[in-house]
Amino acid sequence: MKCVHLKGFQSLLELVDKPTPVPMGTEVLLKVLGAGVCHSDAHIWEGHYDLGGGRLMSMAERIRFPLVMGHETSGEVVALGPQAKGVSVGSRYAVCSWIGCGECRFCAAGDEHLCAAPRFLGVNRDGGYADHILVPDARYLIDIGDLDPVAAAPLVCSGLTTYSALKKAGPVLQQDRIVVIGAGGLGLMALNLMRLLGAKGAVVLEPNAEKRQAALEAGAVAAIDPGAADAVQQVRAALGHPVSFVLDLVGSAESAGIGFELLDRAGKMVVVGLFGGAMALPVPLLPMRAATIQGSYIGSPGELRELIALVRKNGGLAVRVDRRPLADADQALQDLRAGRVVGRVVLVP
Ligand SMILES: [Zn+2]
Ligand SMILES: [Zn+2]
Repeated sequence: MKCVHLKGFQSLLELVDKPTPVPMGTEVLLKVLGAGVCHSDAHIWEGHYDLGGGRLMSMAERIRFPLVMGHETSGEVVALGPQAKGVSVGSRYAVCSWIGCGECRFCAAGDEHLCAAPRFLGVNRDGGYADHILVPDARYLIDIGDLDPVAAAPLVCSGLTTYSALKKAGPVLQQDRIVVIGAGGLGLMALNLMRLLGAKGAVVLEPNAEKRQAALEAGAVAAIDPGAADAVQQVRAALGHPVSFVLDLVGSAESAGIGFELLDRAGKMVVVGLFGGAMALPVPLLPMRAATIQGSYIGSPGELRELIALVRKNGGLAVRVDRRPLADADQALQDLRAGRVVGRVVLVP
């Protein structure tokens, strides 16, 4: 098989050959049909998250090299271990990469994405930047039916992350227009999912003009440059009512700061992005506005099943996908880091 190796932090991604694994026990071997390139991959490559104030959270203890990244994978089953059940050779699945220890209280509650000893594919174990992927158990495979496997791959992280975050808005999503910060891969995914969820609509904040245009094409009510001196007033005008929900898909000091500034009384901001930095919060305003700031990290395997069922019922999602060969993985990652990607890059072996 061919796979893309990351041999150390900030090193070149290399396409290498290695023996194709034979599935043992409950394992399932799939031929990869699509592998999304996510911002988390850029953080793994960099080796740290920026906590602000010069503090970094190192990935050194979590990552073992060489690593095959890729946690947004779809594929076709080609071989089953002797104990593997519930999937069939030739069928197509999304691979739920969010595999926990199976023993902690989060795993017991079905929240494997919150496990403190994760075995995530593409992070802690080899993932989808390859032409084959080994999945430990068929229960992590979700049937995608007739969905385009390349467009379906990003549902595993980009889709699930935005879906789980949008659900945290509650009924407000159908009642009010919301504010979405960021129109990268997650932002466009959020706008598409909002349609399926019967949401009222979103005003998007995004500094890049091409991405603002993409947001308008994906159904945003308005797309505003947060760098404009009157950005806050523009958002309020476009919304036409107080801000009850902000979805921060960037997660920088600036984005969370403007998000909180926008929030009206009893409003909620859900932060999803991991760009980095430390937020300066005017603390008295938190109680005075009875505001809620909530974090949302990926989503549960159960939510991924819900999401794929929702997308299948609607015949697919019009996600903007930039298809590239496996050999272009390094360039794709650097393009993403430099903000040159509109929509989602999916590696197609
Ligand atoms: Zn991801
Ligand atoms: Zn666990």
